[in-house]
Amino acid sequence: AIMPASLSAISNGARHGILFKGGAHLENLSNIKAIAFDKTGTLTKGKPVVTDILIRDDMNERDVLSAVASIENQSNHPLAQAIVGHATREFNVQLFQPDSLEDVSGWGVKALVDGSEWKIGKADFVDKRLAEQFMNGAYGRIASEGKTTVFVAKENEIVALIALKDVVRNETIEALKLLEKEGVQTIMLTGDNEKTARAIAEEAGVASFIAECLPETKVDELKKLKDQFGTVGMVGDGINDAPALATANVGIAMGEGTDVALETADVVLMKNDLTRIAEAIKLSKKMKRIVQ
Ligand code: ADP
Ligand code: MG
Repeated sequence: AIMPASLSAISNGARHGILFKGGAHLENLSNIKAIAFDKTGTLTKGKPVVTDILIRDDMNERDVLSAVASIENQSNHPLAQAIVGHATREFNVQLFQPDSLEDVSGWGVKALVDGSEWKIGKADFVDKRLAEQFMNGAYGRIASEGKTTVFVAKENEIVALIALKDVVRNETIEALKLLEKEGVQTIMLTGDNEKTARAIAEEAGVASFIAECLPETKVDELKKLKDQFGTVGMVGDGINDAPALATANVGIAMGEGTDVALETADVVLMKNDLTRIAEAIKLSKKMKRIVQ
């Protein structure tokens, strides 16, 4: 049977683990000049492991970790899941229900436990100045190793720091090289701090990066990239990536991403294989030649 070029390209894509939600997206891919990538769960495996735990001297480690794990158990952030797993496995802590809880996307979580306010998340979220004091130099070392730091504050005092390390996906480096060959600029957008972002960007081989992004700053960065490059893509997996996926000319979701990311995206990488993006771009360029 004779199929229109776009339809045959879509079914060809599906066979290769990439799902297009329409022919227009395939065509847009052929014009793509730059692609922005989320860090956690996209360039990295999104399965961070706890590497360092620093507890304030006068605090009981198990008590702190019990509260932290109970609070993080209410969040579905990959960092939260890793912390809960570690605390229950290694410290055998009991989980309980916090009195109240607020999950602040891109920042961390806030909760009330026995009348005390707890905050868990990035330095700016708990208290940047106190967080830096608490670290007393260790922050630089931990961040330059590409680790993410999660601070714990109880009643506005820093009581603990938890460092986690995520690893880049096996195919990330190859995928970025293939994109470079297709003449596509690669940019990493992350909510993480500058130092951690730099270390992961270097590991992954991404051409440039923008750190300390909030979900809304990711959208602003996407708009700037559109002004600069014309047609741009965005690859992400999280709820907080959805606005940026919608802003890009081609939004690409990781197959194991959250429902919101999958619904918002134009294209889905069914097997989470980033090398498929460059292949899809090649396919779309080929299709364009056939049509013309
Ligand atoms: P990324 O862009 O790397 O996917 P996010 O935007 O999801 O990162 O989060 C940015 C930062 O906010 C994290 O690096 C972490 O420091 C902090 N954070 C967000 N949610 C949580 C949470 N539930 N527990 C601890 N830290 C959190
Ligand atoms: Mg992510």
